[in-house]
Amino acid sequence: MFSKILIANRGEIACRIMRTAKKMGIKTVAVYSDADKMSQHVYEADESYHIGAAPAIESYLNVHKIIAAVNHTGAQAVHPGYGFLSEQAHFVEALTQNGTTFIGPPASAINAMGDKITSKKIAHDAGVRIVPGHMGIIPTTQEAISIARKIGYPVMIKASAGGGGKGMRIAWSDQDIVDNFQATQRESASSFGDDRIFIEKFIQSPRHIEIQILADNFGNIVHLGERECSLQRRNQKVREEAPSPFLQHSTRQEMCNQAIALAKAVGYTSAGTVEFIADAEQNFYFLEMNTRLQVEHPVTELTTGLDLVEQMISVAANQPLSFTQDMIQTNGHAIEARVYAENPQKNFMPSIGRLKTYRSPEESRNIRIDSGVTEGSNISIYYDPMIAKVCSWEASRTRAISTLNQTLHAFELDGIQSNLGFLSALLEHENFINGQFDTQFIEKNLTDLLLTRTDNAIPFVCLSAILSYMAIHTNQEEQIQSIIHIEGTCYRVTLEKASHIRDEFIVFFEDGKNLRVELDGFNTSKTLCKININDTRYIFQISKTKMGWFLQKGRAQCEAIVLSQTQSALLAKLPKKQKTETQQHLLSPMPGIVTNIFVKEGQIVQSGDPLCTVEAMKMENVLRSEKEGEIKKINYQCHDNVNVNDVLIEFAV
Ligand code: ADP
Ligand code: ADP
Ligand code: MG
Repeated sequence: MFSKILIANRGEIACRIMRTAKKMGIKTVAVYSDADKMSQHVYEADESYHIGAAPAIESYLNVHKIIAAVNHTGAQAVHPGYGFLSEQAHFVEALTQNGTTFIGPPASAINAMGDKITSKKIAHDAGVRIVPGHMGIIPTTQEAISIARKIGYPVMIKASAGGGGKGMRIAWSDQDIVDNFQATQRESASSFGDDRIFIEKFIQSPRHIEIQILADNFGNIVHLGERECSLQRRNQKVREEAPSPFLQHSTRQEMCNQAIALAKAVGYTSAGTVEFIADAEQNFYFLEMNTRLQVEHPVTELTTGLDLVEQMISVAANQPLSFTQDMIQTNGHAIEARVYAENPQKNFMPSIGRLKTYRSPEESRNIRIDSGVTEGSNISIYYDPMIAKVCSWEASRTRAISTLNQTLHAFELDGIQSNLGFLSALLEHENFINGQFDTQFIEKNLTDLLLTRTDNAIPFVCLSAILSYMAIHTNQEEQIQSIIHIEGTCYRVTLEKASHIRDEFIVFFEDGKNLRVELDGFNTSKTLCKININDTRYIFQISKTKMGWFLQKGRAQCEAIVLSQTQSALLAKLPKKQKTETQQHLLSPMPGIVTNIFVKEGQIVQSGDPLCTVEAMKMENVLRSEKEGEIKKINYQCHDNVNVNDVLIEFAV
């Protein structure tokens, strides 16, 4: 076994790999860029080595720097994590030449599966069902149209070198091909340095289901069942689970068999994933193979009890698998949610800055949290905006959903925006709970999922009344009446203390109803508050406002204004505030690089029209006009660096 390994990655996955290495008694080496000097993965490693400037191309993607780190520290093997160099065959070859072990598959398998056209051909030859389509490069729009007609609309235009959800577009008609073919080609050239495009059938009502496989150097190969990753945004996974609530047993068997057949065909070793797309009738087709550890591997670890990183390290150390297929059992249901630094309300714009508050809920037998940040960490523009992965594991899917949701509610996070509320909205959606969803689910239900209004204001009313009581009347036991305004509705409630030892109250409503509410471990310095109302538990994020409380429970958030009788009477007399209009500038919502400008000075734009794109954290963000108007001045050009709140475009007044 190795005594020291280097992790050529950062963030949560670097930390997660170190966790297993420690467990195995292996020393760890972290590498870090200028932006990561103070990052969590550097603290958690036994040693660390600086590899260059913040842009990944100068550090985490720089093979020479990583090899220098290996040689300087004497690491015997390298785990690449996911992203960065994990699927670069030339990196594996460079390590091999250096006499260093790559903890992953052989370069030949990475090469075979790295290109979508080639991998489809290999899969086809191995007897794996592939998405119907054209298995060659398509050079022109005209040819694309004739091929698309032969396949039959809708079709998917895809970059052969694509990845991370980038470089693919749906076309429903000839016109869509005209509009999108060259754009996909350009995007592929700029993102992957390769403009080869192919076309395949767009599978309707698609579900993304993938099979985890594991193979050693002695010809032993097993599958660890499936993961369903159908909840996606822009073809990128947001939430994953195992087992799939959709797959029938016979389909699962067939999928696993085909995944193993493909892995064998390319001489695969280590952990890998074969991705499929399935239609509503359980027909399934090969999409691609990811020759690395996958972001969502924890759900498989929870249901199988295996540690995939440990298996990868053992295989790399030339040990045979210690179990056979029939010894692998899957138990219970696991769900993962990816917590991103982004603002769902602003088109999921990445959110950058310092994590002023970061307290993740406690881990337990049923809750796993993989995170690469701590309070005070900086979320920079240079890397992926994912801050943590949260997983639940329970006997049933229903319980796994509710445990995960409660865990998301209990995250304390401030300083940056996150998608926590959005993730809760997903978990609370009726069709998600029923298992009725496909990869278009988020897009189709977006408006609904972004609503922050409360479905049930009662817990908010109770909590704000109690918080106000506690803030003012800590030592008194009188009855107290408050008037609470939430989302335009006024509630009059009376509070009565119900216990002398615990923070327990009876809340009386105007209509005579009353509720018993218990506050659980409240203290004024906390931003988190748990209450039980008639035995149902709610977790709130709380903060004091001028006139009451800002309360958030999952996706539902509102400001509660708490008034006494007199204050309420006075407030009614105040004139309503006028809404101040006219935003005459388009400001950059974040630091980044301008990658596209769609408008010219003097042009008239409509509300919703794209104005320009700013790239940060590997994401291209389209900035749109919020109103109709005339473009007066454009202050930047493509490739310019911009800071947050820089005026990108000025509108004529
Ligand atoms: P996985 O296939 O492991 O679930 P994803 O499909 O989410 O991972 O992402 C595929 C790869 O793309 C990963 O290696 C990840 O590091 C990278 N990636 C993740 N998010 C983005 C992004 N916003 N833009 C580009 N690449 C990304
Ligand atoms: P990437 O390398 O970016 O992960 P994939 O080929 O794995 O690209 O596709 C990513 C996602 O795009 C899939 O999970 C699926 O949601 C969607 N997708 C890709 N190809 C098709 C298709 N032919 N029909 C329907 N959806 C597709
Ligand atoms: Mg994929």
